[in-house]
Amino acid sequence: MLYSINSTHDATLKSWVTSANDPNSDFPIQNLPFGVFTRPNGIDAVGVAIGDQILSISACHSAGLFEGPAADAAKRCGGSTLHQLIALGRKHWSALRIQISRLLRDDTMVGRKAQKLAETLLVPMTEVRLSRPIYVGDYTDFYTSVFHATNIGLMMRPDNPLLPNYKHVPIGYHGRASSIVMSGTPVHRPFGQTKGDNDPVPVFGPCKRLDYELEVGFYIGQKSALGSRIAIEDAEDHLFGLCIVNDWSARDVQRWEYQPLGPFLAKSFATSLSPWVVSMEALAPFRCPAFARPDGDPQPLPYLSSPENEATGGIDLTLEVFIASAQMRAQGVAPLRLSQSSLKHLYWTPAQLLTHHTSNGCNMRIGDMFATGTVSGPDKDMRGSLLELTWGGKEPLTLPTGEVRRFLEDGDEVIMHGFCQRPGFRRIGLGECRGTIVNG
Ligand code: MN
Repeated sequence: MLYSINSTHDATLKSWVTSANDPNSDFPIQNLPFGVFTRPNGIDAVGVAIGDQILSISACHSAGLFEGPAADAAKRCGGSTLHQLIALGRKHWSALRIQISRLLRDDTMVGRKAQKLAETLLVPMTEVRLSRPIYVGDYTDFYTSVFHATNIGLMMRPDNPLLPNYKHVPIGYHGRASSIVMSGTPVHRPFGQTKGDNDPVPVFGPCKRLDYELEVGFYIGQKSALGSRIAIEDAEDHLFGLCIVNDWSARDVQRWEYQPLGPFLAKSFATSLSPWVVSMEALAPFRCPAFARPDGDPQPLPYLSSPENEATGGIDLTLEVFIASAQMRAQGVAPLRLSQSSLKHLYWTPAQLLTHHTSNGCNMRIGDMFATGTVSGPDKDMRGSLLELTWGGKEPLTLPTGEVRRFLEDGDEVIMHGFCQRPGFRRIGLGECRGTIVNG
């Protein structure tokens, strides 16, 4: 079941953490994303982002600020991962959220008490490192944007861009979990085997067509048993939250290796995640109908279909990608926005992806992740990869410094943002996902 909108989403709430009341903050009191931060002394703790601060859950618990199921949930926040908290289940996540909301408000008794303890409860974001919040066991990447699939298909197979299965079955592949890294981790330009159409033999060397993919990843919050299927009506119960994903891609390697089994080394060298996990409950005000299939498209098979999914299975979440070359940074030039897209353009909903993933009896474990695939929209400025934006390098981009880009060069930094907004509700953000390309 989807979460209902409750007092934690009320747009009029204000926090005694004043930076959270800045309309430009990604982390107002209505958001409350979870993460793990590492102090300079190396000690990890579970926290919640609020404005430019992090609220330590353990510190709040030690101060006696939680009660009932929220206190049980806070007890599980002493380690260096969200896993123990997530394992408690959805009722506990909600109980913790509502009590965190109350203790950060500027108009409650517990809020006034917490404010007096601000120095022990809060850590400025600038003083800590954000660490991996959840150890991702298995990682699957889907191919959910019909616009992305059509663009790629047009370049690879001009006569046959969209394969006949696309509108019937969610397409995905098994990604590599070991090379998932947090935002800010440098990305090494991969080496690989490539072969141009006119080359007699392949060569091995550094990737020449390095790209990003603008995506969102969902963390599994409730496991499922091997041999069982998650019904579409239950799929949302299994989701904990989401983050931004950059699925770095070596296009020249991909082109040579992708048939017949799909992506392999072109994708497995690095995948970057934003560190804050925005809960599905925080997203409640921003749910939207599933993609409106044009006349003539097939309807999803019954196991991928429900009235609730059709009415509210989508998420109206805006994604943006920016680039800053080394020269731009040296000259103090602001990052250039390359595109803006939205999850509402995806052909399949998260519930459909998860239901399909388990439809053969494949089990899900807490902390597994599935990502959407490149979130491209119908217009040119909504394309979620350089491959599409420069049309395979044929239409290069010019940066504000006059530099030209077909694909990523060493020193280029890719910065992704995500946010939700809707009249009557407070805008919430996902934070950012950054990565800079380094040589070797
Ligand atoms: Mn991808």
